[in-house]
Amino acid sequence: MQSHGITSLYELFGDLVILRNLTPFDTRLPGLADAWQEMGLPNARTPRKNEPQYATASVWFVRQARALDLPGTEVRELLFIGDTAMNDGNAFRSLARAGGWPGWCFIGSEKLNQPAAFTPESDNVTLSNRWAGLAEWLAGVKAAGARMDETTAVVIDMDKTAVAARGRNAPVIDTARIEGVERTVATLLGDAYNRDLFRTAYATLNEPAFHSFTGDNQDYLAYICLVLGAGLVELDTLVADVQTGRVDSFRQFIDWADIQLRSGEDRSSILSNKPDFSAPPGLRQIHRDVYGLVLAGDPTPFKAFRRNEYLCTATRFGSLPASAPVEQMLAEQVCITQEVREAALWLKARGCLLLTMSDKPDEATIPTPELVSQGYLPIHRLLTTAVGESIADQLANL
Ligand SMILES: [Mg+2]
Repeated sequence: MQSHGITSLYELFGDLVILRNLTPFDTRLPGLADAWQEMGLPNARTPRKNEPQYATASVWFVRQARALDLPGTEVRELLFIGDTAMNDGNAFRSLARAGGWPGWCFIGSEKLNQPAAFTPESDNVTLSNRWAGLAEWLAGVKAAGARMDETTAVVIDMDKTAVAARGRNAPVIDTARIEGVERTVATLLGDAYNRDLFRTAYATLNEPAFHSFTGDNQDYLAYICLVLGAGLVELDTLVADVQTGRVDSFRQFIDWADIQLRSGEDRSSILSNKPDFSAPPGLRQIHRDVYGLVLAGDPTPFKAFRRNEYLCTATRFGSLPASAPVEQMLAEQVCITQEVREAALWLKARGCLLLTMSDKPDEATIPTPELVSQGYLPIHRLLTTAVGESIADQLANL
């Protein structure tokens, strides 16, 4: 494992970056709001990654992106590189199906305590416990008849794949997000903030056992931690209410919180709250902001948290000197995955179209205009060190 110099995702993808709201960073491509009819979607609502409309929109972006530099060149096959068998594997399957493309998918998750191995799954999805397995995978894809030329679209997942490789550097991304939640809650609660309570609440409710309540949604979880930290309800009470089924959805919880915060008095019919509760300054306003967006159907309603997540993530790019030991870089800094970088550059040199997709909300990935004026850049343009095992020699022999 070595460091391979300073670069950014821009080196690989330019601005062909598509985030959760399906509006590409490259302004030559229109976003969902302007192009949904052309895409063949029923409305302008942003679909989630697991919905068929998401694949429909993505196929449209892939074709439009190819047409930007090579009009008249038809996309005829798909390569996909990701880090989660279910999520990315299924995103690949639905994208290949929607495009009518033959395709191959590499799912990397480094496990150095195991012997290097591939695990084939259905539909040409291959799991690899080494990121360096990309070279051998590409050799196999080539042998299977892939053209890997300008008719090939290569979609690469961003988080824990192109940056912060799973099994190697991924906890840095999670740490940044938790710090984003904590900073938001601490700022909003001021003197009332209790770090131990926050840490316990976040760790408890982030467990899969509570996903039916939190929707596995980090914005919801951040909001719940805020309300717990404010003392509107005790963690033990909430946990018990979720376990007994008295509270079974986030919507039910925030509806309840709305009544508490609007009235300021205990009119609880669901949760037993603290009768002596007085809201910290600013809590009602942030609640109104979040609640309004929840009612409007925004899946990322806690904008203040996502802005802090952006800041906490951005500060972890290129945060260490180039001379820092590789182990320290992987522990503390978001690094570009050298194997993915080399594979991507190799494919790009053959003429393939490269783009990266991330399920991250815009607010966690793009700085606000105010931060832009202070020199902050979108995540894909931030410089950091590329770390990994070079596969350049293997690729040169392909
Ligand atoms: Mg990922």
